[in-house]
Amino acid sequence: MMQLFRPLDMLGWVYRTIRQGLIDMAEMFRLMDTAMEVTDVPGAPALLIHRPMLTFDNVEFGYERDRQILHGLSFEVPAGGHVALVGPSGAGKSTIGRLLFRFYDPWQGRILIDGQDIAQVQQESLRAHIGIVPQDSVLFNDTIGYNIGYGREGAGDAEIIQAARDAAIWPFIKSLPQQLETEVGERGLKLSGGEKQRVAIARTLLKNPPILLLDEATSALDTRTEQDILGTLKRVSEGRTTISIAHRLSTIADSDLIYVIQDGRICEQGTHGRLLRHDGLYAEMWTRQLNEEAELPEAAE
Ligand code: ATP
Repeated sequence: MMQLFRPLDMLGWVYRTIRQGLIDMAEMFRLMDTAMEVTDVPGAPALLIHRPMLTFDNVEFGYERDRQILHGLSFEVPAGGHVALVGPSGAGKSTIGRLLFRFYDPWQGRILIDGQDIAQVQQESLRAHIGIVPQDSVLFNDTIGYNIGYGREGAGDAEIIQAARDAAIWPFIKSLPQQLETEVGERGLKLSGGEKQRVAIARTLLKNPPILLLDEATSALDTRTEQDILGTLKRVSEGRTTISIAHRLSTIADSDLIYVIQDGRICEQGTHGRLLRHDGLYAEMWTRQLNEEAELPEAAE
């Protein structure tokens, strides 16, 4: 299953990257090759988690040798803590997520989960402990039940329905004539951005990982749907160690700790209130977003 999961996850990431217009096809194949080169050290043990705390310890990284992206990045996320990464576009936030999932290895420094270096444990066990809810969820051309059940091999309908309930998508599925057997994707029922994201949340709930990586939606959703989904995500992340990669600061203002990343370095950290009082980059971004939102007509529904 995980052998399957990895390329599919990779494809999901590549798909999102293309949708964001960041790379062309030739570049995509080069990136896939690079990411597939990360291998287990011989005899690597499985990751064993008692307390899912995360540590980035002096991490240096770049995709190309002549262009460093992360510069000696160090930060911690306590077990069960909710941390947000914010900062200007291109600062390195998504890169941090990719390193945590070990699509790449750092040039230097270490990433630890519960004291274990992720480069030294089985990738399969690492990825089994991390759930990702991405900006744009990719669905397979299969049934909605399959798309949720994919979160955990062997999950039965009762568990799939429970996950759908917790992700607040069950009432929608139940209203469809074929319920879990409804075909979705290109040849089947087209789901809205919000519905797709709820399917991704249900899939993650079924996986039940102790660590969550939330890559915030930037566009796709209207304001009300976004608020609903945020409420669901908040419930889902309770008791799990959570990193939110955020573009809209209003969505992460209640995080335990916010790290502001600029040019691959942490330039500020603190709670929302403390960062506003500090009156630095975060406060500037916050004011700018408030002004932008005030100027926008109510988001198109
Ligand atoms: P955004 O808020 O716009 O999503 P970000 O902070 O998440 O930005 P990253 O996606 O981590 O930024 O990108 C950091 C830098 O790394 C950018 O300059 C980007 O161009 C570069 N980069 C990202 N992915 C790759 C890649 N696969 N190959 C080469 N460079 C990359």
